[in-house]
Amino acid sequence: MSVWIKNAMLCGEKTDVLIEKDTFSFVGKLKEGQSFTADRVINAEGMALLPAFYNLHCHAAMCLLRGYGEDMPLMSWLEKIWSKEATLTGEDIYNGTRLAVLEMIKSGTVFFADMYWYHQDVLRAVEDMGIRCNIGVTFMDSLGEKTIKDNLAFLDDYASYSNPLITFAPAPHAIYTCSGKLYMRCFDNAEKNNLYFQTHLSETVDEVGNCKKLHGGQTPTQYLHSLQVLNHRTIAAHCVHLTEEDAEILAETEVTAVHNPCSNMKLSSGAFDVPLIKRCGVHTALGTDGCSSNNNLSMIEEMKTAALLAKHAYKKADTLTAKEVMDWATVNGAKAYGINAGRIQQGMQADCLLVDMQNERLVPSWDIVSDMVYSADSSCVDTVICAGKVLMEHRRVKDQEEIVAKARAFVKK
Ligand SMILES: [Zn+2]
Repeated sequence: MSVWIKNAMLCGEKTDVLIEKDTFSFVGKLKEGQSFTADRVINAEGMALLPAFYNLHCHAAMCLLRGYGEDMPLMSWLEKIWSKEATLTGEDIYNGTRLAVLEMIKSGTVFFADMYWYHQDVLRAVEDMGIRCNIGVTFMDSLGEKTIKDNLAFLDDYASYSNPLITFAPAPHAIYTCSGKLYMRCFDNAEKNNLYFQTHLSETVDEVGNCKKLHGGQTPTQYLHSLQVLNHRTIAAHCVHLTEEDAEILAETEVTAVHNPCSNMKLSSGAFDVPLIKRCGVHTALGTDGCSSNNNLSMIEEMKTAALLAKHAYKKADTLTAKEVMDWATVNGAKAYGINAGRIQQGMQADCLLVDMQNERLVPSWDIVSDMVYSADSSCVDTVICAGKVLMEHRRVKDQEEIVAKARAFVKK
């Protein structure tokens, strides 16, 4: 399969792009009279070509609980959500994940790191939709030994899964739901199988206070470091309450810290310390978290919120610039999961967006990066391409009406 994108604006220049299989094989200007033979030709006149988004922390099927528990702090909110989640079936998770992926594609996302239950149903949903995913298999001590063993065996079986868009990760939920022993079992599994490793880290003040009480004054980061479960394949969501020493540990161990500004603000968890993260050189990416603490999955909205929160919290207008937050949402996210993508360059994975420059939010277009961060919304995204496959064109995604109808039927049930 090959795709020729004609006449798209890239960095202010009219550009032609040829995609062969999953890779950009040409990015540049064709000479007068030159052309490509391609299976599909997209005339992108009036559109800008941009990297797609990588959502590094999500609980996709939680979109079924969008608006279900509102205006509560993290722990009481979790209790309410957990009691509802206990009633979800594998089919619900399949339908919920498809709804989440539909929303992500419509807002320009081509990859998400998921952390949820019923991983077989998540796998079915993401393969049907054609998106990239790191499927985080959630672990908690409360699951019991049998489920823990089954989940570890599942990871062994799926470690070298045939679909290159899909990877797996053991995902011990957090230090307040998983013992040190469980963290180490999960990490050993990741090491043995060459998998990524997801967890929540230092999300709230209470989590840090309780950890210090239980673990001899260690913060959650210091505690996980003492368990030796932090490395370049560890993806830590939130990282809101870090000390200088914590940030240095994350930088040294090459952990990716994932900022989730909407969720942190909604649950009153606090403000991610952008100056500290930048000073210590922590690899950082961006995620939406689940829909019930956000309440949508738009990385465009997440970029704006991250930039505004940083400027507001640290009282300096360049605390987090449009360019920096765009990198967090694109190339940094791809890099964290070893995906050679996030830029429109020859030889890189063909993940990209076409945005409609006639959309009123993108006029008059002084600076497309600033427009995408501070002005755009999902309606600006016209076309989404993931690994060379067109997932959306002119805002149409395959089966979109059926996906919405199935999710609505869940609420009736
Ligand atoms: Zn989360």
